Parts: sequence; structure tokens; C-alpha cells
Amino acid sequence: MQHFAALTPADFFHQNAKTRPEGFLCGNTVSISNPAQGALAGMEQMPDYDQHEGVFYRADEASGCLFFAFIHNTNRGQAQGGTRFFSYDTMLDLLSDGLRLSKAMSEKCAVAGLWWGGGKSIICPVNFAIKDATPEKRKVIFANFGKFIASLHGSYVAAEDMNTTPEDMQTILSQNRFVTCIPKHAGGSGNPSPFTAEGVFKSMLATAAVYEGQSDLSGMSVSIQGLGNVGSALARFVLNSGVSKLYVTDLMLERMEMVKSWAPEVVEIRSSKEELLRQSCDIFAPCAGGKVIDDESIAWLNCRYVIGAANNQLERPEKHAAQLHEKGILYLPDFFINRMGIINCANEQYGWLESTLQEEVVKIYEDTVNLLTESRSRGLSPQEMAMIQAGEAMKKAHPIWPNRGKQLIQKAASERS
Ligand code: NAD
Repeated sequence: MQHFAALTPADFFHQNAKTRPEGFLCGNTVSISNPAQGALAGMEQMPDYDQHEGVFYRADEASGCLFFAFIHNTNRGQAQGGTRFFSYDTMLDLLSDGLRLSKAMSEKCAVAGLWWGGGKSIICPVNFAIKDATPEKRKVIFANFGKFIASLHGSYVAAEDMNTTPEDMQTILSQNRFVTCIPKHAGGSGNPSPFTAEGVFKSMLATAAVYEGQSDLSGMSVSIQGLGNVGSALARFVLNSGVSKLYVTDLMLERMEMVKSWAPEVVEIRSSKEELLRQSCDIFAPCAGGKVIDDESIAWLNCRYVIGAANNQLERPEKHAAQLHEKGILYLPDFFINRMGIINCANEQYGWLESTLQEEVVKIYEDTVNLLTESRSRGLSPQEMAMIQAGEAMKKAHPIWPNRGKQLIQKAASERS
């Protein structure tokens, strides 16, 4: 596993592109004698591997990108999770990010009651910067990535994620039928962020009801890190709910100024993550990147609740959830409350209905009240309680196709052997 820390994605690409451009690793007992598995040898020792059913890669010379698909669990159905277009410094960073995100998707789909498993995919450029990818270049990247996804036979279903757009998803769709978040005009569901923000806001309301005995956020103070699609929509909900103060930070000044202009008396800008985390407030809402809470930043926190949309907010989920609990800070698990994005995608597969989304937003409120009440009565943290719920739900196999995902993974692996 150590060799991944010393290996850049470009090294990995060049070592494999000519000799074994396609590779995979399946299950926990892997034979590394097979050249198609050799490039990933040692990955099964990573703590984040955690019983993944399959990991596939392609070193795609035509686009100059590494493609990865991580399939954590298909018990409940096809592995679903977004496609991240992102550059990584080392292969360890890339593999660890993909493995952690795909596992979180298994948990998220399970607690959301979807008949989907968990997966994630990564497109990592090796000889250009993402900002330099022209629209023409993106077409080549996402069309080739679409062929890679087609070769997995539906064991994994792609979706929009960091640095990807509904138009990119439509390019993937030109090569296979295993993709969601396509544009509305093509029968898709479009941007799920307003619903994700509403789901997170409902979880804040549920927490205020259970712990503060109030039906809105009046008199409370909230900090939001990240004012993108979700964070800015969340800011609107929060401001309309009577907060006394809203503290915000973002890497983009214009986004902070935009939110401040909505309520100049209430909104205050903080210039860095550290400044925001040190700010005394009731609720801290991480809505930027992952791993915002780590060994260093946990000491800065000066809030009573952490309730936000970002995926994988805790660098080490068990350790940091336990530390937050000890500090008396209530943490609502990200996978439990930011599920509206994936629910939107699942809805799309069966023909998108806004009324279903509205019902699901109400359900997040009810589920959060139940999670908080039950975890409190059992003396557990909400994270521990949610993990128990996710574990139980993940054991329930798909009612029609219980082993389909594993069979499809085997098919894709045998074609590469
Ligand atoms: P986005 O890219 O639209 O917005 C992210 C914002 O965070 C940007 O404004 C960016 O400038 C800011 N940012 C990045 N790093 C920062 C930092 N270190 N400090 C301060 N600001 C920073 O993304 P989004 O769609 O709003 O998603 C936000 C988070 O929620 C992500 O972690 C995403 O994975 C997660 N999420 C989103 C959805 C959804 O429906 N969009 C669903 C589930 C989870």
C-alpha cells in the first residue's frame, strides 16, 4: 500500500497504459498473479477498501485520463454514485477518495431506502489541468469514459459530481444507458442542489425541534462553509427561518458578497475556514469539500451542532464522530441528511416527479427526528445510530435481482482476465 503514496496518477498511467490499460480488483481474496489485477496489488490492504466488491480502471490514452470505478456494495442493486473529475497528487489520495466515497454511497442509498448499491467513479487527468479542458476536449473525455462505463455492464451507474455537469452526463449517455443527472430536456432531473439544501435545512429544523423545542431557527446562529449550489440555497432557507446571525465563508468573494446582500444586518463574512470554525455559533454547516473535520480543525469548532451537505465531512468517521460526541457537539451524519441528490437521480430512472421529491424532503425531517430520539434514548451518537440503520438496510437484498450486481462484476472482470 505504501507504494501508492509514492506514485503519482501520471506514473500509474504511464506504467500501465501500454502493457495493461485495463485492470481490476474484486473482493477481499484477490490473486495478484493476474496482470490485470497486478497494478492494484496492495489496495485490498487499505483500511478504506472495506469489502469493496470491485474496482476497475482504464488508462485512457486517447483522452489522457485515468478512469476509475469503485463498486462497494451491490446487495440492494446497481452501484450508484457520482463521477468526480479531479486531479490528485498521489495514487493513495485517488484510491482513498474513491473507496471512501463509494462506501458512503452504499450507506446513503441504504438509509434513503433506494434499491441501489453504492459506488463512485473518478476521472483524473494526467497531462493537463481540468480548467484547460475545452468543451471539445470534454466531449472526448466523457465519451471515452462512457465506453468504460458501458464495459462494466451496468454494475455501476454514473451521476454528476464535483467538476461535472448534466451536459457531461449526456455525453456519457451517448455511449451507454448507465447514467443519471442528465439535463431535463433529455428526460433527466437536472440540478438536485435546491432539494439537497432543503433536506439539510429540514434536518436543522428537526434538530431544533428535538433539542431546542422550537419549530424554526429563530434566535439561533448558523455558519456555512461553501456558498455553491447547495450552500447558497441553504443560506436562503436559513435566513428565512429567523436566524440572529449567519456567518459565511467561500473561496469566491463574489459568492460571500451575494449572500451578504440578501441580509446585510444578519450575514457576516469570515475570511477563512479556520476563522469560520472558531466562530461561536449554534450550527456549523459544511457545504464545501470533504474532510473539513480532522485532528487539527476539531479543536477549533465552537458550535453545538454540525449539520451540513458536504460528503465525507469527517476525515476518519468513527474517530472524529466519537470525538465530537465527547466534546458535546451533535453531528448529523452527512450521508443521512444530504441524500436528496441521490434520491433525485433515483427518481429520474422511473420518470421524474417533483411531488416525490417533496415527499422525500418531509421524510428527511421525520427520519432525523427519529434518529435523534432513538440515539438519545440508547445513549449513542447519531452517527453510531445511523451506521446501525445503514448496516441493517444494506443486508436487505434487492427483491428481484439479489445477486445481479456481483454477477455483472464477475462478467466485467472475466472479460479483462
Ligand atoms: P459547488 O461546487 O457548487 O460549491 C462548493 C462551494 O464551496 C464553492 O462555492 C467553492 O468555492 C466553495 N469552497 C470550496 N472549497 C472551499 C474552502 N476550503 N473554503 C470555503 N469554501 C470552499 O458544490 P455543491 O454542489 O454546492 O456541493 C457542496 C457539497 O455538498 C460537496 O461536498 C458535495 O459533494 C456535497 N453534496 C452535494 C449534493 C448536491 O445535490 N449538489 C448532494 C449531496 C452532497
